[in-house]
Amino acid sequence: MMTETVKSENLDISSLLFDDLVPFMEQIGEPKYRAEQLFRGFSQGKTVEEMTDIGKGLRAKLAERSRWADLEQVRKLTDPDGTEKFLFRLPDSHVIETVFMRYKHGNSVCISSQVGCRMGCRFCASTLLGKVRNLSAGEMLAQVARVNAVNKVSNIVIMGVGEPLDNYENLLLFLQNVNDPKGLNIGYRHISVSTCGLVDRMEQLAQRRFPITLSVSLHAPDDETRNRLMPVNRKYPVATLMQACRDYIAVTGRRISFEYTLVKEINDTPRHAALLASLVRGMLCHVNLIPVNYVAERGLEPSSSGTIEKFRRILAEKGVNVTVRRRLGSEINASCGQLRHQYMKEQ
Ligand code: SAH
Repeated sequence: MMTETVKSENLDISSLLFDDLVPFMEQIGEPKYRAEQLFRGFSQGKTVEEMTDIGKGLRAKLAERSRWADLEQVRKLTDPDGTEKFLFRLPDSHVIETVFMRYKHGNSVCISSQVGCRMGCRFCASTLLGKVRNLSAGEMLAQVARVNAVNKVSNIVIMGVGEPLDNYENLLLFLQNVNDPKGLNIGYRHISVSTCGLVDRMEQLAQRRFPITLSVSLHAPDDETRNRLMPVNRKYPVATLMQACRDYIAVTGRRISFEYTLVKEINDTPRHAALLASLVRGMLCHVNLIPVNYVAERGLEPSSSGTIEKFRRILAEKGVNVTVRRRLGSEINASCGQLRHQYMKEQ
């Protein structure tokens, strides 16, 4: 028991930037190349125990003085379309989900940023039981690394369970580590961060000027509709959010991707489409339309394909860059915390 407590207070070495790992290793009397081995090992999805290029003595020393991300795969589902969904158990016994998707332009992994979520979006399964804790940078990296060890990953979307900008410091560490040439070396241009619109954090993130893609979950063009779907809108209403998006584009020069989940009779009328078009007109952006995935506890129905097409056409006619998202993994509950939620109901 005692060692357990000490362990959890130990420094989490799989979440450190390489430049901070080196001095830690020096402190315990180890040369720089050992830091490189560790960093590489974590990027290969290994725990220290699994790094055979590190001697037994050093592994024991590290176990005593530090800790690291450790994901145990508890379930893996494969959809006929090739989408794979992983459930991982963390050392504190919580479970998280990670999704691997195959696209023409390369393989993508969708990772979780928190255990649960506290944003409360009305259509979403991830937030039904609230937020348990943030994931560490190492736990985010390990999701990518574990999947990449089996199938080469070229793109990362941080669109799984959790609100990444509500776990801001760890997100920044993760982005830098996954981009590091000494590790997975995945370019920022191949990484998307999705947010429900935490404006203060968006402003901070813009200042970092990472050439990532920011996805903003808009889902409604007016406060009345957005308040119904997303409690966060009461803190950051549509006009405030859109100004933050314009500022983000101005500072970073990067196009924003707006996510718009279509819910039958709630946000899918021609009036909503016209409002949305005027909201984003002239912005460096793309609009992604997604039929809502039905979540039993939520009871919100997806719009019909005819309604979606009509909505898309109104936007396109007004010059908006718009696409309808292809659905992957629909047979394995692959979206938005659905598998984790199902697993937890079973337990
Ligand atoms: N918290 C972040 C990222 C996680 S959610 C965010 O809000 O963007 C990833 C995306 O899935 C968001 O656009 C979210 O609104 C959407 N989403 C959640 N539940 C959904 C559902 N049942 N059907 C369709 N999209 C959903």
